[in-house]
Amino acid sequence: MSTATGTLTGQCLCGTVTITTTQWSAQVSACHCRLCRVWSGGVQFGFDAPCEAVTVTGTVRTFRSSSFAERAFCQTCGTSLWLRDDNGPYEFVPGFFDGASELPLVREVYADRAFACATLVGDHPRVSRAEYEATQPHVEDQT
Ligand SMILES: [Zn+2]
Ligand SMILES: [Zn+2]
Repeated sequence: MSTATGTLTGQCLCGTVTITTTQWSAQVSACHCRLCRVWSGGVQFGFDAPCEAVTVTGTVRTFRSSSFAERAFCQTCGTSLWLRDDNGPYEFVPGFFDGASELPLVREVYADRAFACATLVGDHPRVSRAEYEATQPHVEDQT
């Protein structure tokens, strides 16, 4: 995994929430699970940042989307802010940060659940639902 340092800053649509991180993983994963499809509207992109590198200002609402993770959003405009497993790093969406436009897509998970409109090009690994759930915490009965 390649780690980047510097300053990556973004703001939600209404400007209430600002997130800054000084370290992040310079690679993006895409997830097509049902939770991510509903939350994002199609496919969820994410990259990690360690908790100690992250500063959040503004009023954030969180929702426990599973027994092991929360999703956060701006309480005013609803912008998706992060997905985070308990005790895990932040998983941010690249679209939130102007400086994240060049992060490469390196992996798709739940690739066999992708909607036709969310077909992604490229040579990266495509992990099926069964392959993913064999090794990772997951929500049961997600189609
Ligand atoms: Zn907002
Ligand atoms: Zn997902």
